[in-house]
Amino acid sequence: MGHRVTLIPGDGVGPELAEATTRVLEAGDVGLEWERVEAGAAVIDRYGTPLPESVIESIRANRVALKGPLTTPIGSGFRSVNVALRRALDLYANLRPARSMVGVPAKWLDVDLVIVRENTEDLYTGIEHMVGNDAAEATKIITRSASERIARFAFDYAVAHGRRKVTAVHKANILKLTDGLFLESCRRVAEGYPGIEFDERIVDNLCMQLVQKPQAYDVLVLPNLYGDIVSDLAAGLVGGLGVAPGANIGADAAVFEPVHGSVPKYAGLDRADPTAMILSGVLMLRHLGEAEAADRVEAAVRHVIAEGRAVTPDLGGTVGTQAMADAIAEAIVSRDAAPVAAS
Ligand code: NAD
Repeated sequence: MGHRVTLIPGDGVGPELAEATTRVLEAGDVGLEWERVEAGAAVIDRYGTPLPESVIESIRANRVALKGPLTTPIGSGFRSVNVALRRALDLYANLRPARSMVGVPAKWLDVDLVIVRENTEDLYTGIEHMVGNDAAEATKIITRSASERIARFAFDYAVAHGRRKVTAVHKANILKLTDGLFLESCRRVAEGYPGIEFDERIVDNLCMQLVQKPQAYDVLVLPNLYGDIVSDLAAGLVGGLGVAPGANIGADAAVFEPVHGSVPKYAGLDRADPTAMILSGVLMLRHLGEAEAADRVEAAVRHVIAEGRAVTPDLGGTVGTQAMADAIAEAIVSRDAAPVAAS
């Protein structure tokens, strides 16, 4: 049975990456059918908004989307399209795996982390105001329902993907009510998952430990702001933005996208690394229940990067976006990457 997926190519390097990624995923042979829709800076003139209602309707209907980066126009009055999309579809969980790959320059070769970030509240509700001319206040909102929901997501993810431990990250020693509630919610949810180890870390201590011994951690669950910061730290541990995949997941829809932006300086130059978007596609295949195809595509990506012959300049190579994608698609088909599947 096939899967109908909304495809948003996006701005900047997005269309090139979307072309590369769809070709690679199609080589995985699970019958993907793309419904191509447009959003972002490029469509503002035509639709009067960077996020036409038809885009949201398409994702609602298909329940799954693969998305390229979108440029947030500076000073145009439009808020981030990405944030608007997450709100409109209540994509409450931001999932970012960070896993080392042979061939990607990084300090560690054995990092395997999954960051689960709460996506809807905390300091991101945008409630702030001036108090007179010389002071400003922002409101941090943490609710029991959102905290329990993200904790359950983290534990369910751990169970479904054979992970051993979930660590709740907080600053409850200082923010006793807000982060205290987040932590208490995580503890309560943890009781329902006796097969998964649970522990807790204060966010500053966690950052130091992630730099010194990232192998000590497995799945991390965090409120929005710490999740934002720590997931970039984790991406840095395994080689940076060009290889960092992500997903925004809700009860009724999921949007898979690279962590990086539209990289305007490489737009149209066939120079951007397609890895992050392809690995976002791998997350999508797993979400669709196509674990075997996901393993094959991921193994092929790892194989091509480890070989180092057909990789983009950020990975030390000399080929373009499309040639790297072709090499990955070929590796999937020829199955020569199969032995690395479980690595
Ligand atoms: P960016 O991620 O586009 O680029 C930062 C730098 O990282 C680049 O200059 C490049 O050196 C490197 N890089 C990132 N991805 C790469 C890739 N695939 N291959 C090779 N090198 C890569 O961040 P930015 O410059 O801050 O943002 C540009 C635009 O993207 C902005 O309009 C921003 O709002 C938008 N943005 C969108 C998203 C999203 O759609 N989810 C996320 C972040 C930024």
